[in-house]
Amino acid sequence: MENNDFKIDPWSSTNILEEDYLRLIKEFGIEKITDITLERFKKHKFIRRKVIFGHRDLNLIYKAIESKKPWAVMSGIKPSGPFHLGTLTTALEIVEFQKLGAKAYYCIADIESWEDNGISYEEAENTAVDNLADILALGLNPENAYIWRQSKEPIVKDVCFKVSRLVTQNTLNAIYGEKTFGLYLAALIQCGDITLPQILDGPQPVVVPVGIDQDPHMRLTRDLTRRYYKRSEEDNDINKTDFFLPGATYHKLLAGLDGSEKMSKRNPNSYFTFNEPIESIAKKVKSSFTGGRKNKKEQQELGGEPQKCMIYKILMYHFEDDDKKLAEEFKQCIKGELLCGEHKRECVEKVISFIKEHRIKKEKQIDKAREILKVD
Ligand code: SF4
Repeated sequence: MENNDFKIDPWSSTNILEEDYLRLIKEFGIEKITDITLERFKKHKFIRRKVIFGHRDLNLIYKAIESKKPWAVMSGIKPSGPFHLGTLTTALEIVEFQKLGAKAYYCIADIESWEDNGISYEEAENTAVDNLADILALGLNPENAYIWRQSKEPIVKDVCFKVSRLVTQNTLNAIYGEKTFGLYLAALIQCGDITLPQILDGPQPVVVPVGIDQDPHMRLTRDLTRRYYKRSEEDNDINKTDFFLPGATYHKLLAGLDGSEKMSKRNPNSYFTFNEPIESIAKKVKSSFTGGRKNKKEQQELGGEPQKCMIYKILMYHFEDDDKKLAEEFKQCIKGELLCGEHKRECVEKVISFIKEHRIKKEKQIDKAREILKVD
């Protein structure tokens, strides 16, 4: 059945069903992950596991790796609250690309948290430190990274003014719908964030890992890069010196743990943050929506539906490192050889042990995060 309700909006909830992803690929000219891409990026967990379902210009990243030329990964976080399952996906994608050789550019989008959520720069400061300590604990190497706060980075504001003479209100309206002027400005600031790697370190391929809901920013930035920073389409070549159109990878958004369409602050059972009490996290994972049948007998007869199951999904995204075990559990579930109770218990243990270890690592990164962001 076709879902006509979904909309691609970076600032509001999106309802995207599994079958919509193919439609989005076609509609917005996103490239599919082919077998060649899978082979080239098999070390990247989210590509290998097909959490990333599409991309733009990932071939340029591969060429840069092959020819040992510089390339970058750029993404960021809006400091409006603690890390949660959704922010974890993007953060780990950055870390994975950095491990493949990228210099990482990580933006604290405090202008956006003001425009979107009314959080002042001062209020956002402590959240920014907390968020940065999280990604450092997840493995981001600050020695090969550039990290900035939008409000403190004059270059990104400068780009906003420079490119804005090429943008009309009609264009922004067509891409984003009718929004406050502040959100339009935040979008143009994001153009600055995405072009910053090439402004600071010269033309090079850049990949921006995002959820599909952020694609409007990618389309706007690619359009403005084409018109402001490069001469022609043919220049998107690894040997040319004009700016590259920024590339992207698109991951599937995780639905709510409780089976709701999306993780949302308005529905606390749909997600957990890294900072909430362990008991609360355990309870939410334990109550997750599964693809299990009504009872043990039916499960054994009919098998479960792991493709619908949030336990399977969170293990696949984040908490099961072993590809073989994951594939084996998928098969066992379908055959009715795995029961939800035992699988949930195992998942809860994995999540809790991850969170406990993460908190220890994060504690050690708080001072570093303060130092990087120059927060006393
Ligand atoms: S057995 Fe596991 S994967 Fe299968 S439906 Fe139950 S919880 Fe999900």
